[in-house]
Amino acid sequence: MSQKCDVLIVGGGPAGLAAAIALRMQGADVLLADAIKPPIDKACGEGLMPDAHRDLAALGVTCEPAEGSAFRGIRFVNWTDGEPVSVSADFAAGEGVGMRRTVLHARLVERALDAGVRLQWKTHVALGSGVSLNSEPCRYRYLVGADGQSSRVRTWAGLDGGRLISKRFGFRRHYRIPPASHYVEVHWCALGQAYVTPVAPNEICVAVVTRHSATRMQRVIDAIPFLRERLAPIEASTRERGALTTTRRLWRVVKGNVALIGDASGSVDAVTGEGLAISFRQAGLLSHSLHNGSLESYAAEHEKTLQMPRRMARALLLMDAYPSVRNLAMRVLAREPKLFHGLLQVHMGEMNLPGFLLRNRPRLMSRLASSDIRASDKERASA
Ligand SMILES: Cc1cc2nc3c(=O)[nH]c(=O)nc-3n(C[C@H](O)[C@H](O)[C@H](O)COP(=O)(O)OP(=O)(O)OC[C@H]3O[C@@H](n4cnc5c(N)ncnc54)[C@H](O)[C@@H]3O)c2cc1C
Repeated sequence: MSQKCDVLIVGGGPAGLAAAIALRMQGADVLLADAIKPPIDKACGEGLMPDAHRDLAALGVTCEPAEGSAFRGIRFVNWTDGEPVSVSADFAAGEGVGMRRTVLHARLVERALDAGVRLQWKTHVALGSGVSLNSEPCRYRYLVGADGQSSRVRTWAGLDGGRLISKRFGFRRHYRIPPASHYVEVHWCALGQAYVTPVAPNEICVAVVTRHSATRMQRVIDAIPFLRERLAPIEASTRERGALTTTRRLWRVVKGNVALIGDASGSVDAVTGEGLAISFRQAGLLSHSLHNGSLESYAAEHEKTLQMPRRMARALLLMDAYPSVRNLAMRVLAREPKLFHGLLQVHMGEMNLPGFLLRNRPRLMSRLASSDIRASDKERASA
């Protein structure tokens, strides 16, 4: 007994399923295997940025309005500079959508089945001189590793070479209360960030990310007065889940007829909120490349999908690690919300970084030079 397909995808998370749908839409015979079975849940902030939302729609993945909750931008709140300092920006185009991972997974599976992808759950994938699925050999033209950040396909194919830039610890819980705003709110405290995403008209997802391995989710929530007070009277509606979040750069994501996608192919810290959008973008690139008969253009274009999110991750991780940088950045952004709006556009790929810097340099320099922004905490307290 043996199986045969054009493309074998190992891993049925968002990246694997999006790639399977995109490839099937181009006519490929696609077989996808995952070690576990749906509904597949995962610790995640559950925010789909407008570009991720658009890419999903292009794949034919639709969600009922009641299955998620739209958000119109991002709000940062800093709790480490005396009084809380906050700044918000709306997306220049489109809306984001908060959606439970289980709902997103169910919709992707439905669409994959509808498109004709062959799905094999609870499948043991053995990688040796050949590949077998539950002990049955499988022949393929291309193999795609979509098996997440600890990818076994990556190691098997000899693609582990690269650099781990950051590693943090993430957690998430849900609470049945109406969202406090139409934004994804990122609360910054000394222990890390807690971000709140509306995922239904009457439900929020709270995700916490911290660099301290011994810090637990509740400690971070307790360090943020707004969340502590809001969440204290309510019990979480789901059990806590945890996961590592990394920023990882790989030197190569293609070798022979093997390609990596999603977190298996490199990642950015969760605080960027970009993991899903990047996966969907890569799915489009991969199907386009294979449609043209090789993995060449995927290999050449893949790095671009991670370049800007990785830069943003670096900046956000600097704010996380250094309170003085965080406090200064937040004071500047709170005084100049247009800068925050511009940075969000850069993050979304709607403006390039040199263009943003060129346009905003004078504003940025004058703000950084102004004495009230630069004043130390002590000076400001005594003023
Ligand atoms: C705390 C936290 C918060 C986050 N918040 C956000 C957010 O708000 N927005 C956003 O866009 N992104 C967010 N992310 C990132 C996002 O979750 C990931 O980028 C996304 O899950 C990547 O999808 P994937 O399919 O590549 O990997 P995964 O979701 O990890 O899926 C991998 C799949 O491969 C399967 N698998 C693994 N090994 C094998 C094997 N050997 N054989 C067969 N199958 C296998 C697994 O069962 C799984 O189904 C967050 C991440 C964390 C940790």
